[in-house]
Amino acid sequence: MLDCAIIGGGPAGLTAGLYTTRGGLKNVTMFEMGMPGGQITQSSEIENYPGFFEHDKTGMDFMNTWQKQCFHFGLKHEMKKVERVSKTGEHFTVTLESGESVEAMTVVVCTGSTPKRAGFKGEDAFFGKGVSTCATCDGFFYKDKPVTVLGGGDTALEEALYLSNICSDVYVVHRRDTFRAAPPTIERIKKKSNIHLITDSVIEEAYGDAMGLAGVKIRNVKTDELTQMENTGLFVFVGHNVQNEVLKDENGAFICDVNDWGQVIVDLSMKTSVEGLYAAGDIRIEAPKQVVSAAGDGAVAALQVISTIQEQA
Ligand code: FAD
Ligand code: NAP
Repeated sequence: MLDCAIIGGGPAGLTAGLYTTRGGLKNVTMFEMGMPGGQITQSSEIENYPGFFEHDKTGMDFMNTWQKQCFHFGLKHEMKKVERVSKTGEHFTVTLESGESVEAMTVVVCTGSTPKRAGFKGEDAFFGKGVSTCATCDGFFYKDKPVTVLGGGDTALEEALYLSNICSDVYVVHRRDTFRAAPPTIERIKKKSNIHLITDSVIEEAYGDAMGLAGVKIRNVKTDELTQMENTGLFVFVGHNVQNEVLKDENGAFICDVNDWGQVIVDLSMKTSVEGLYAAGDIRIEAPKQVVSAAGDGAVAALQVISTIQEQA
C-alpha cells in the first residue's frame, strides 16, 4: 500500500513528490506517462519563475533539476499512464492503462489542463516560436509591440486586456460578430483604445522562417478577404482540455466534484470533495496556470497528505 500516489509529473506533481518524501513519507510513487517535467518542457525559455533568470536555458533544462531533487529524497517514478482512480473503502485503487492496479492511502491528481489548438496552418510549426497560449508567460516578449489574439471567450478577452497593458496594440480575431465572453468584459474591451476587434474572421495562416513567426494572414469568413499582419505575436485562446479522465468512474461519472468546465473543485488545502483525494496545479478551479502556482499547490497538497497519514497511523 502506497502512502501516496501522485498522478502527473509536471511542476505540481514533482513538488508534491518533493514535499511528501522530504517530509518523511517513505512510500510515495509518482505516475507520469512520459518524462517528468510537464507542459513547461515545451517552452524555449521561462523568465517568470522567481530566482531563475537564465535566458540560455529551456523549460526542459529548468525542470531537469526538479526531478533529480525529488528522486534524491526518495520519490519513485513509474512511467505509466493512469486510467482511473477509485475509492475502495478507506483507500484508493489506482488503475493503470496496462490493467495493473496499485493501492494507496492518499492520491494527489496533478494531470494538468492542455490549451486547445485552433487548427490553422503554421500553428504547430510556430508554437513556442511566436505562437503562444499564455499571455502571462509570453506577453512581456512583445512589450510595446503589436500582438494578435484569437478567440472570443472569457479567456481570450481577459488575456487581451492583460496584453493591452504591455503591448502597443492588440488585434482580437474572432470567428463570429458576437462574443461568448461575459458582457462586462466585452464592455471593458470596447473602452480600451489599443484593442481592435476583427470579427467574422479567422487566422488563415501563421507564417515565418527559422527565426520564428513573421506574421499572420487573417481571413474574413463572410467576404473571404485576406489581410496580412506583419511583425506580430499570436496568442491563441480557443479553450482548454482539462485532463480529468482519471477522475471518471467506469460509467463516465466524476468521483469528486468538478465545475461546469471539468476543473476539479478544491479548497485552499487542495482537498477535493473526497477524503484523502487532492488536486493540484492547472487541473483545479481558478488555476493561474503558471509553474510557480502549480508548484505551490503541490506543496500545499503534500503537507495535507502528511497530516492525513499521521492521523491514520
Ligand atoms: P502539467 O505541467 O500539464 O503536467 C501534467 C503532467 O501529467 C504531464 O506531464 C502529463 O504527461 C501527465 N499526465 C496527464 N495525464 C496523465 C495520466 N493519465 N497518467 C499519467 N500521467 C499523466 N508557466 C509559467 O509559469 N511561465 C512560463 O513561461 C510558461 N510558459 C509556458 C510555455 C508553454 C509552451 C506552455 C505549454 C506552458 C507554459 N507555462 C508557463 C504554463 C505551465 O507550463 C503550466 O502552468 C504548468 O506546467 C502546470 O503544471 P501542472 O503540474 O499542473 O501540469
Ligand atoms: P470558450 O468559452 O470555449 O471560448 C473559446 C473561444 O474560442 C470561443 O469564442 C470560440 O468561438 C473560439 N474558438 C473555438 N475554437 C476555435 C477555432 N478552431 N478557431 C477559432 N476560434 C475558435 O473557452 P474559454 O474562453 O477558455 O473559457 C472556458 C470556460 O471558462 C468558459 O465557460 C468561460 O466562461 C470560463 N472562464 C471564465 C472566466 C471568468 O469568469 N472570469 C475567465 C476565463 C474563462 P465561438 O464563440 O464561435 O464558439
